[in-house]
Amino acid sequence: LVPMRLQRFLARAGVASRRGSEGLMTAGRVCVNGEVKTELGTKVDPRCDEVTVDGVPVVLGSGPAYIMLNKPAGFLTTMSDPHGRPTVAELVPSKKFPGLFPVGRLDMDTTGLLLFTTDGDLGQRLLHPSHHVWKTYRAIVDGRCLDKDLEPLRRGLTLDDGPCQPARCRVLEPADARIPGFDRLDPGTTAVEVIIREGRKNQVKRMLSKIGHPVIALHRCRFGELRLGDLAEGSWRELTDEEVASLK
Ligand code: URA
Repeated sequence: LVPMRLQRFLARAGVASRRGSEGLMTAGRVCVNGEVKTELGTKVDPRCDEVTVDGVPVVLGSGPAYIMLNKPAGFLTTMSDPHGRPTVAELVPSKKFPGLFPVGRLDMDTTGLLLFTTDGDLGQRLLHPSHHVWKTYRAIVDGRCLDKDLEPLRRGLTLDDGPCQPARCRVLEPADARIPGFDRLDPGTTAVEVIIREGRKNQVKRMLSKIGHPVIALHRCRFGELRLGDLAEGSWRELTDEEVASLK
């Protein structure tokens, strides 16, 4: 451990990417030995200087954090909301892992797998269109939806903001829906699975509306190789090393 630039120290500690760390510094959120440091050239000695972000000590050697949350309905996917609405920040250990941010987003009423990391570079890579991962959603839709009704999604339908890539999709047996809060399917509704790589705003809801089956409930059970498994609603866990490797 040798003296180094503060932004490098923060990036190495897994707080954010180098550029993200510079942003934290210029925003006045980083202190060294109790003093706010906004100068990007500031050097720190990890052996004796105490570095904090938003008052939380940062130490080298812990590496970036990777967490999955089983998001309940009613929480916004953001780490802070100016209107004071409930956010996912309340559900993950954001004090323990300063710089934790959600990778992508789920709508307020969508439940299921949401990935968080302090690894800014990985987060950006996963969100880049060239690197989009397959995401599996289960939906309860209005109306009796038959397998053949899903054909337009398989071919790739066009929404207001352009054509969608072909989706993999199927009608689910009611017992396979397993969507929180929907233990029984009402008659006149159908459970479907939709797997897409893109992540446009409200994409799955808009795709299903377009074929005449508006979404009643939406749940994401898989993100790339990551699966929710039996993680309880509102709970989080750190990813295993294998799961982290699968994202890279
Ligand atoms: N598609 C949607 O419509 N909503 C989500 O939250 C995620 C995917």
